Amino acid sequence: MNIITRREKIANVAQAWKRQYYNGCKWSYNNDNDKEAKYNRLMHLPSDATEHDIEEIIGNDSWTGVGCDICEDEHCVAVIGLSWSAEYGEPLAWVCLACLQEAAISLETVVDNDIL
Ligand SMILES: [Zn+2]
Repeated sequence: MNIITRREKIANVAQAWKRQYYNGCKWSYNNDNDKEAKYNRLMHLPSDATEHDIEEIIGNDSWTGVGCDICEDEHCVAVIGLSWSAEYGEPLAWVCLACLQEAAISLETVVDNDIL
């Protein structure tokens, strides 16, 4: 199953930052050495770091956001990918637990009524 969690994104943010801004020889867009300095700060975060800790270093929450395509909440604890797209190489929709439960209840109601 394709599941993305906030905890996983937080744990991997330093590596993701380096992949984005370090080409193996030098840091890209490294004005005032800020990309490298931020990477070093990210690397030294404790294992229980929060989104807020990372937002303070990077300056925005886009690196730890876990979004649901249904309710558009960008700060879910986890989402599951549904309907795999071979064309895009990823699921067509990421869905949070609340939206998945709501869909299941709606479907259950329809199924139950059909049985009665
Ligand atoms: Zn949702």
